[in-house]
Amino acid sequence: MSAAPLLLWFRRDLRLADHPMLSRAVVSGRPLIPLFILDPETEAIGAAAKWRLGLSLADFAARLAAVGSRLILRRGPALPVLEALLAETGAEGVHWSRLYDPASKARDTAVKAALKAREVAAVSHDGFLLHEPMEVQTGQGSYYKVYTPFWNAVRGRDVSSPDAAPKALAAPDHWPASEALDSWQMGRAMWRGAAVCLPYQAVGEAAARDRLSVFVADKINAYRESRDFPARDATSRLSENLTYGEIGPRLIWHEGRRAMQEGAAGAEHFLKELVWREFAWHLLHHTPHIATQNWREDWQAFPWQGDSAAAERWRRGMTGEPFVDAAMREMYVTGTMHNRARMIVGSYLTKHLLTDWRVGQVWFAECLTDWDPAANAMGWQWVAGSGPDAAPYFRVFNPAGQAEKFDPNALYRRRFIAELSRSPPPEACQYFEAVPRRWGLDPQAPYPAPMIALEAGRARALAAYAARNAER
Ligand code: FAD
Repeated sequence: MSAAPLLLWFRRDLRLADHPMLSRAVVSGRPLIPLFILDPETEAIGAAAKWRLGLSLADFAARLAAVGSRLILRRGPALPVLEALLAETGAEGVHWSRLYDPASKARDTAVKAALKAREVAAVSHDGFLLHEPMEVQTGQGSYYKVYTPFWNAVRGRDVSSPDAAPKALAAPDHWPASEALDSWQMGRAMWRGAAVCLPYQAVGEAAARDRLSVFVADKINAYRESRDFPARDATSRLSENLTYGEIGPRLIWHEGRRAMQEGAAGAEHFLKELVWREFAWHLLHHTPHIATQNWREDWQAFPWQGDSAAAERWRRGMTGEPFVDAAMREMYVTGTMHNRARMIVGSYLTKHLLTDWRVGQVWFAECLTDWDPAANAMGWQWVAGSGPDAAPYFRVFNPAGQAEKFDPNALYRRRFIAELSRSPPPEACQYFEAVPRRWGLDPQAPYPAPMIALEAGRARALAAYAARNAER
């Protein structure tokens, strides 16, 4: 009879390489039971992210099978699921990679306490980030609120080398039963556009590594000058894979460093962007209210407008402002949105429409396949002006000016807005298939007139901010 197995509870770490928890478990020499739990916290994520997670689970299960293992799927609150599996398998410990969002932390803390009370080893590992959020501290022993000092603190910090994927995982004598992934219907809420979105996804560890290789070989050199132009294929697109842990940040960091040492001009800038992800998680760990409240106390009284007919036009990509609409349509068709475009649609919603940033945050969470609770919250509070190290309130992006600068030949706008061309490209037409039917959008209808004059919207936003400042 072999030694008692370990349960490996996978969450946002669906990969084999660069995986500290997995490497340590392999070294233990015990049989390993990989497990994914569809718990209420995971059930609650947005439609696109849940659908995309289902694709990732299928890929990961196949990778595990290729190294002689299996992915056991169970549904229900984490603790009872783990307790049942411990009883069924005689496993002697549960291991997982740490997460830092409030819902995961609350769940994991409760699970750890309950398992320890039963004298079951419950061990959490690093691996989701380059650096543990509690280990990066200012000289005063506090957390960072501003990005540049954070970057300066971590740029020279040691990042351990990524481990290779194990070639084989020891199997238990008896595998516990698994639920069928299909029975979970992970794409149920994504009925509106899964078929359209699918070809734009690069699912799984092998696809993620290909993306990284292509990026480092062909794009990293020009990254700095090209990354702001949404019509160019100039960024890594790794956010989609990082979200599900199909690739580890250490591997990306070391590849970026290698490119930098070999003289790639854009490599340091790329590393800086990767560190924005770290910074977002650092902030979410230390100030969890960033996900739900204006981060700056003095913004609590700001009269944000709630959801409205104008916000609905924004959601539908029908504002009549082409850069804004192209970006929203890009999100429905591809599942992601270019970073510059995220800033522009965010500024338009929160400044020109004076709408609460949480309206946008929630909609992104519903529609993005690269949804990340930390980057999304930080990004929205940055554009709104209410966050740490945010864009100042008087910085109101002008979507028309931004379009002239970053989409000078209107390639991006034409790619996603069918109404602007006589023979529109496929992506523009796919938009009408990707959105809910009940929206009743007609590809033959003329493109709408702008719903707000840009100068008037800007003046209204500045007046609202001036009034807020006068009251302080
Ligand atoms: P690259 O330019 O290749 O950058 C490499 C990696 O660095 C990215 O994959 C990402 O992990 C990280 N990164 C780059 N820019 C940022 C940034 N500004 N903030 C945090 N990390 C960054 N990113 C998400 O991953 N998920 C989200 O839900 C999300 N929501 C956002 C909402 C708003 C309003 C804004 C302004 C930004 C948001 N971002 C989000 C950040 C950013 O837009 C994306 O990370 C980026 O577009 C991903 O494209 P890429 O992988 O090609 O990035």
